[in-house]
Amino acid sequence: MTAEPEPVKSARRRSPPLWLILLALVAIVAGGLWQISNLRCFALLGPLMCKVETTRPEVALTFDDGPTARGLDAVLPVLRASGVRATFFIIGQEAEARPELVKRLVDAGHEVANHSWSHQRMVLRSQGFYERELSDTETLLDQFREREVVGGWFRPPYGKKLPGLALAAQREGLTMVTWDVEEPSATDPAEYAREIVEQAKPGSIILMHVMYDANGTARAALPLVLQGLAAKGLAVTTVGRLADNARAEKEAEAERER
Ligand SMILES: [Zn+2]
Repeated sequence: MTAEPEPVKSARRRSPPLWLILLALVAIVAGGLWQISNLRCFALLGPLMCKVETTRPEVALTFDDGPTARGLDAVLPVLRASGVRATFFIIGQEAEARPELVKRLVDAGHEVANHSWSHQRMVLRSQGFYERELSDTETLLDQFREREVVGGWFRPPYGKKLPGLALAAQREGLTMVTWDVEEPSATDPAEYAREIVEQAKPGSIILMHVMYDANGTARAALPLVLQGLAAKGLAVTTVGRLADNARAEKEAEAERER
């Protein structure tokens, strides 16, 4: 194949129209905001936690979505056998449809936290919509919690910290919680568990999905994840406990320096 000759460039090339330049700029800014909304440990707005600073060998285990009977039937016995309490980020409308499952979680000592009301892709919605997504869920969860939660947790659906959601979280007094241990895409439970354990370090927040049909690998891997973390010397707890312990550690340190 022979190369085509380079076309001769016109000397009188017209510059692109202003609207095209503006459109390109808008696309670049929107693209940048979208990228930022995906960053695990950085938010333009509102408090965000993707891990905590601590020397204690302790991590938080978090489960997103649901609750579903299938998910709870699979993981609650495993957690109980290991004496582990975890944080469940649950979807408001699913909790409303299956309140007995929320009760099961709370009765077993787990932390229930906010994962929005509808779990839609929440792009370009009104501020009122974002605020209802968070406050309706928080109001529902409060009916099950043993104690009133001040400064609770919100995990943005798909981990996307859209500015409207971040502002709503701030107004609701919620801290956005992402994760620093990514969920593996491995389909083999042993490999899935190995990848989680490898990433985990003191202060880590681990993300798992166990609620739906497609999450069989994670359900099968949970005992191996817990075994692996224990073998690495890492205790497993809730986001709330992890944050409280890290705060107490920092305060004790400040006390010593005084
Ligand atoms: Zn989710």
